[in-house]
Amino acid sequence: MKPVVVLVARLLEKTQALLEAEFDARRLYEAADREAFLREVAPVARALATFGAAGADAALMDRLPRLELIAHFGVGVDAIDLDAARARGIAVTNTPGVLDDCVADTALSLVLNLLRRFPQAERYLREGRWARQGAFPLTTALAGKTMGLLGLGRIGEAIARRAEAFRMRIRYHNRRPKAGVPWPYDPDPVALAQHSDVLVVATPGGPETARLVGAAVLDALGPEGFLVNIARGSVVDEPVLLRYLQERRIAGAGLDVFDNEPNVDPAFFALENAVLYPHVGSASEETRTAMGMLQLENLRAHFAGRALPSRVV
Ligand code: NAP
Repeated sequence: MKPVVVLVARLLEKTQALLEAEFDARRLYEAADREAFLREVAPVARALATFGAAGADAALMDRLPRLELIAHFGVGVDAIDLDAARARGIAVTNTPGVLDDCVADTALSLVLNLLRRFPQAERYLREGRWARQGAFPLTTALAGKTMGLLGLGRIGEAIARRAEAFRMRIRYHNRRPKAGVPWPYDPDPVALAQHSDVLVVATPGGPETARLVGAAVLDALGPEGFLVNIARGSVVDEPVLLRYLQERRIAGAGLDVFDNEPNVDPAFFALENAVLYPHVGSASEETRTAMGMLQLENLRAHFAGRALPSRVV
């Protein structure tokens, strides 16, 4: 008998096809009657496959008392109640490492587009304004500027290495200094923002980092400073950021992540000093495929009694 795996959300097509071939997959996201579905699978469900913001809370874990594993697609596990999983002896896995390059590329493209205003320059040409109004206004260079990494983990380090190739200076803040990195450490986010022209947020989400970037950090970044967030919307105090952008109290922001995705506050759309992406950090065929394979590998390893390749809890 194949182990029963409950799918909280639709997975990547290829991953889902393999998962459904190898396991007894049950689609919670298609259930017309969620309660009836959960009652039916409760005695047999041994794993959950979660995806993006469709994580797992304690209430769902309580409905599935035979659960052994939550296999998440994505590195950020803020949508999963880790304490609840720990307390119930449920293992949690994620998909780290395989997405670092793509997310770091996304961060650098936000930095480039924000400082050099390439999206606006392209619109300018398409609107016929080059011929009518002359050259596009001058912008801000990357070389020689300081990038502050708030969160120098796997992705933060991949961003820093790329920024060095653009001849930017690097500084960082983690809760603890990181061994083996050549860049100066700042003891708190405000000090880092004070020293940065571009502050890039690359911490995990969740309660520990909620609203870490608020008025104090943005004041320290100042009217010439730029903010880039590829982490989670929750790490930034979004209403405060909006106000600071509207009042030009910081120079601009490049954002891949928001509160309440995908329903982004429309006030952002009116801002000329913001570059906005619809959470596409890891969204390439290659990377999403690798993430799906790692999610699957964790499920396979668990049911084969092998060590989990990427265990969080
Ligand atoms: P990671 O390797 O665990 O790195 C996280 C870094 O953040 C660590 O260096 C950690 O250092 C630091 N950190 C944690 N809590 C902190 C705090 N309170 N204050 C300051 N620094 C803190 O994780 P990763 O693989 O680089 O991924 C980072 C995050 O990126 C994910 O959790 C996810 O939310 C986000 N992400 C976004 C996308 C996207 O599509 N935009 C894609 C993938 C991931 P210390 O432990 O020493 O503090």
